[in-house]
Amino acid sequence: MEEQTHFGFEQVSPDEKKGRVMGVFSSVAGKYDLMNDLMSGGLHRLWKCRMRQCAAVHAGSMVLDVAAGSGDIAQGHLQKMGDSGRVILSDLNGPMLREGARRMLDAGYLPGRADCIQADGSQLPFADHSFDCVSIAFGIRNFVDIDRGLREFFRVLKPGGQFICLEFSRPILPLLDVIYDTYSFHVIPRMGKWVTGDRDSYQYLVESIRRFPHQQRFSHMIRQAGFDMVRHENMTGGIVALHRGYKL
Ligand code: SAM
Repeated sequence: MEEQTHFGFEQVSPDEKKGRVMGVFSSVAGKYDLMNDLMSGGLHRLWKCRMRQCAAVHAGSMVLDVAAGSGDIAQGHLQKMGDSGRVILSDLNGPMLREGARRMLDAGYLPGRADCIQADGSQLPFADHSFDCVSIAFGIRNFVDIDRGLREFFRVLKPGGQFICLEFSRPILPLLDVIYDTYSFHVIPRMGKWVTGDRDSYQYLVESIRRFPHQQRFSHMIRQAGFDMVRHENMTGGIVALHRGYKL
């Protein structure tokens, strides 16, 4: 029987998942940033700010931001680096990456400082030991094979390099899970339809969040990929978690 994976709550083949994830982000690319602000009430900016604080990015660093999308994480890294260092923005999806490229140019970051490369995060076109830091925000839950992605991040990091991941996770406060579920399943798809005309992509978004491993399980997967000193911190009661690990 053909291997199966999940696309939200549906069982699909790995190829179908990859194609449908492509479709989701092609459909929402133009309104992606606006929807992030609306859905999270602006909270995603605070979550990303904390990620930037914790990222091991310094003057002269070589950084890979996987699933870079519209480029706000990459821009944060570049601001932190000052005048030296380089960020590669990589994403599976061309329209999302174009939003990222536009943001880089608008902010004055030219090729050489910020470069965009279209690639699947679980098959990266980079040599072993290339980066000081690999970051990914709200991207890894869309991968067909998360373990394979984590192994790729480990491979391309230099010894001593940091992996840092921001992702939706599991609420840990009493009642928050009920409120969050109601909001996710009843409000977000409607909001998606209203703003982007595409309800299904936002239905996928909330389903994919429920399918993603909880904090401890994801830490275990990061360790299994080879990382040491793995830890996580919860934000907004565990709605989002920031995981970190090092290639020692
Ligand atoms: N990192 C950005 C942010 O935090 O706003 C964008 C996150 S967006 C929710 C998810 C991104 O993951 C999309 O741009 C999508 O194209 C990308 N993506 C999905 N599957 C991917 C894969 N297998 N490899 C690389 N990027 C992928």
